[in-house]
Amino acid sequence: MSEIRIEGISKTYPGGKASAVTDVTLTVADTEFMVLLGPSGCGKTTLLRMLAGLEYPDSGRIVIGDRDVTELPPRKRGIAMVFQSYAVFPHLTVFENIAFGLRMQKRPAEEVRRRVESSAGLLQLEPYLLRYPAQLSGGQRQRVAVARAIVMEPAVLLMDEPLSNLDALLRLQFRAELKKLVGEVHTTTVYVTHDQVEALSLGDRIAVMREGRIIQVAEPMLVYDRPATEFVGSFIGNPPMNFLRGHAHADNGLANVAIGTQSIKAPASVAEAAEVLVGIRAENLQASISAPPNGSGSLRAETLVVEPLGSHLLVTAAVEGQVVKVVTRTDFAVQPGTSIWLRPEPDKLRWLRAADGTALGVS
Ligand code: ATP
Repeated sequence: MSEIRIEGISKTYPGGKASAVTDVTLTVADTEFMVLLGPSGCGKTTLLRMLAGLEYPDSGRIVIGDRDVTELPPRKRGIAMVFQSYAVFPHLTVFENIAFGLRMQKRPAEEVRRRVESSAGLLQLEPYLLRYPAQLSGGQRQRVAVARAIVMEPAVLLMDEPLSNLDALLRLQFRAELKKLVGEVHTTTVYVTHDQVEALSLGDRIAVMREGRIIQVAEPMLVYDRPATEFVGSFIGNPPMNFLRGHAHADNGLANVAIGTQSIKAPASVAEAAEVLVGIRAENLQASISAPPNGSGSLRAETLVVEPLGSHLLVTAAVEGQVVKVVTRTDFAVQPGTSIWLRPEPDKLRWLRAADGTALGVS
């Protein structure tokens, strides 16, 4: 059982102006793949280093399995860590790099061979076992670093941006391999990244961080579809979620949200906020050239830019002076300056308070 419980931990570095991690509570289930996602400086690495025992929290505690490890040094925590800079030993072969930790534990030669070969197999490194790191590509070196971590059969695997030194194509390839691998090794994993695509692709759940705090913890599609705040909706997804500013008032058991001179219907409780943000993803706006029937819930927009992106068009348009991004089919005949109509898919609308960008408790 290798559940991780992080209970109310905070950390301010000596001489640091603000706290790097503030009152973070998070439970990672046994064998779960948890991604810590957030912009540079939000405290992800600090949180991971506290899990590893490379930093100590000022307050709070960390429990792995049934052991309180808050004060334990790294080697007593049953963890293995993979860093961004694949720190492999240049003077050792791939085999000996992977075997290193087992040799330190003075494991019998036969066990070392068996476990190294098994880890190398999982990472498709068998053909390279006798090579030195200088004879490997960046992607292969990073695989050695991962193999060296999993060969230790850690209770917990910690990874800090392990793909970020790889070029775009290798990244894509290794991301899929990593996903397959973690499915096979069943190790509780905490993975740090600022890349939202990586987070969506790999995580069983994503913990989104901002300024030292966790803003939302949920499954990837929930974070994507139902962001807890404007920040989360803007940080995740390419393009970011659209947010239209509107004014809500109660109307016949519903709410009416006025966006400039136009309006859309909303659940009644939206009217409590008065000033609201209407969140909608680019692919959840159905665009049409001809005017839809009255009362269809469509918004009139002015096309500003049309970008053909191969599989789709990305259209930038203005609704009452507010810019929105819309994904359309490539055969959508639209030019800059054309008027179009945008119909938001009603169940994909997200309602937030304009005052602080937090979600209203309605869908
Ligand atoms: P990145 O993606 O850029 O690595 P991050 O989200 O991992 O960022 P951290 O490295 O955890 O963020 O940093 C969180 C905050 O703590 C930042 O404001 C950073 O400047 C500060 N910080 C990090 N390490 C130290 C240190 N050793 N001493 C003082 N301040 C630090």
